[in-house]
Amino acid sequence: MASYDVIIIGAGPGGYVSAIRCAQLGLKTAIVEGRETLGGTCLNVGCIPSKAMLHATHMLHEAEHNFASMGLKGKSPSVDWKQMLAYKDEVVGQNTGGVEFLMKKNKIDWIKGWASIPEVGKVKVGDDVHDAKNIIVASGSEVATLPGVEIDEKVVVSSTGALELNKIPKKLVVIGAGVIGLELGSVYARLGSEVTVVEYMSAVCPGFDADVQRTFKRLLEKQGLTFIMDAAVQKVDATKSKAKVTYKPKAGDAEEVLDADVVLVATGRKPYVDGLGLEALGVKRTERGQIATDAQWATNVKGIYAIGDVIEGPMLAHKAEDEGMAVAEVVAGKHGHVNYGVIPGVVYTTPEVATVGATEAQLKEQGIKPKVGKFMFMGNARAKAVHQGDGFVKLMVHPETDRLLGAAIIGPAAGDMIHELCVAMEFGASAEDIALTCHAHPTYSEAVREAALACGDGAIHS
Ligand SMILES: Cc1cc2nc3c(=O)[nH]c(=O)nc-3n(C[C@H](O)[C@H](O)[C@H](O)COP(=O)(O)OP(=O)(O)OC[C@H]3O[C@@H](n4cnc5c(N)ncnc54)[C@H](O)[C@@H]3O)c2cc1C
Repeated sequence: MASYDVIIIGAGPGGYVSAIRCAQLGLKTAIVEGRETLGGTCLNVGCIPSKAMLHATHMLHEAEHNFASMGLKGKSPSVDWKQMLAYKDEVVGQNTGGVEFLMKKNKIDWIKGWASIPEVGKVKVGDDVHDAKNIIVASGSEVATLPGVEIDEKVVVSSTGALELNKIPKKLVVIGAGVIGLELGSVYARLGSEVTVVEYMSAVCPGFDADVQRTFKRLLEKQGLTFIMDAAVQKVDATKSKAKVTYKPKAGDAEEVLDADVVLVATGRKPYVDGLGLEALGVKRTERGQIATDAQWATNVKGIYAIGDVIEGPMLAHKAEDEGMAVAEVVAGKHGHVNYGVIPGVVYTTPEVATVGATEAQLKEQGIKPKVGKFMFMGNARAKAVHQGDGFVKLMVHPETDRLLGAAIIGPAAGDMIHELCVAMEFGASAEDIALTCHAHPTYSEAVREAALACGDGAIHS
């Protein structure tokens, strides 16, 4: 029953980052979290455990496929599944523990339990009601499933269940060829599962340009994933240890059935607002159930703000973090800003895929016929040296001003390299600016420079 300048509901990347910035700005801050550990979806069951599994299985793939050609001979490692899960849990523990440390360091009170907002200026947790001049809702998202598909987290799993299966499935069916489905699908393909991805759309990862989608799908197929595109899943029938996935190809009426040991439902996520009491307060929601906010993350109810997955925009940890920092500035009476035009998106498969800004298709819809500079990683010495010559860097620049409007990278370390292009976009740089910047040799980043050169008089190594 304490009194705070700000109480934040939810300790995911949006909430905990916001709490730190609020505290740094001199606000008396508390954070409420219903889970046992801090860090939200991202640290507990999302970004971090999935990247740990991608890393471990990438190592396995390298050992199985690339070691011998480099003269590293001997038996390939065998998989100790229990130990791999323990490694993943340890990584999660280090990260959630790190957030706990940061809360203490910044003198932020962690109120444990599930919060509701009984009235403006009050946050109820258990039997305690705390006063809060400002409330920031950062309650995140939950798995969205399909009609006819019931998740039991054993045979029919969400991403959460897929990160703690008790054994590696022989046959895995993934419903949905979005980021989460493809990341976890490639984890299991590397572990030897027969992975079939069923997707309603005709291309993987909606929102990417068609050339990126095609290359990405082809490379995943090379790694053993099978795709059934343009197919609508009708239902999943599960027993204790098996499932049957019934789908209907868009062309034709006949239903088809796939057998699976495990079915991963990766059809997206939806905002999580259960138990907050938003309806009684009259907090407006969007048609898709997100909390509606203005450009300063304020809801229509004074003193209540919202950020992260629970509001509109891409469901990404770094978007939530940026909003967390910006809303703290607003609450402290300063100016908060997020440039939604420069939020990178990354798929952490091998190769990685990273994008920022507009796609070529979006620019064309806006009536801009961009100049496109493309450079294949086959022409990049470093990429070839590490068996990663697949993919390309693609830059889209304004045909008259040469200003960078969008970029896509499919290739090694794409998720790190994209930031050169984010900074360039933030600074309003042209392709020429990038092309005139000396890039160290031999690095993957040289491919970015080459793509920039390709927007002008031509790349050197293609
Ligand atoms: C498998 C998977 C992989 C992902 N990988 C990536 C990635 O690589 N990169 C990336 O950018 N994004 C990734 N994401 C998405 C990312 O996890 C989310 O965008 C991010 O976590 C959103 O942050 P948030 O703070 O809005 O909400 P969340 O992280 O969902 O946190 C919200 C928290 O609020 C708590 N909460 C909710 N209601 C209440 C309440 N009433 N009282 C108290 N506590 C409450 C919840 O328990 C939760 O801990 C991934 C997601 C998944 C599922």
